[in-house]
Amino acid sequence: MPRLIFLGAPGAGKGTQAKTLADLCGIPHVSTGDILRLAVANQTALGVQAKAYMDRGDLVPDQLVVDLIRERLHEADAQAGWILDGFPRNVPQAEFLDELLHTINQPYDRVVNLDVPDDILVHRMLGRGRADDTEEVIRNRLKVYREKTAPLIDFYKNSDRLIHVNGDQSMEEVTHTLKQLL
Ligand code: AMP
Repeated sequence: MPRLIFLGAPGAGKGTQAKTLADLCGIPHVSTGDILRLAVANQTALGVQAKAYMDRGDLVPDQLVVDLIRERLHEADAQAGWILDGFPRNVPQAEFLDELLHTINQPYDRVVNLDVPDDILVHRMLGRGRADDTEEVIRNRLKVYREKTAPLIDFYKNSDRLIHVNGDQSMEEVTHTLKQLL
């Protein structure tokens, strides 16, 4: 079963595609955004710490997400494969992940980058109606993506496991492309 890392700007469709593929493969879809939103809704210690960052569209501190990924990948259902969605989000997180996967002896198979033009990203995010999808927050999330997350494409470029997928197609077309590639 595959171990995949999904990259892409906010609004690129990572979440939808990661969930669809994970369901098809019968492996967990590990979304740090989903885990954090649940923590915020349940007002756990993690949620209380993360909320203000998420409301602004900033990344939450690395330590919070690094701890939750370590715990999540140690769970029984994650031993046969997983799809990571929203993690890593910056170079220090990617370095942490390399080390963690080495330690638990679970190398990733592929890094999938979903490419979508900026104007389409904004349009899609405004259409989602999520609490952190106001125009100002969206602009900040795109800025954070460009500054912190986009450099991961270079980080993974040297491995022959990075693949680019055109995310500017219908949901079904992207899923079809992904199924063929993986
Ligand atoms: P997402 O659903 O992946 O767009 O994530 C929603 C929000 O959760 C982001 O805007 C960040 O505030 C936070 N978040 C999710 N994943 C991470 C991560 N790996 N590192 C830091 N913050 C994250």
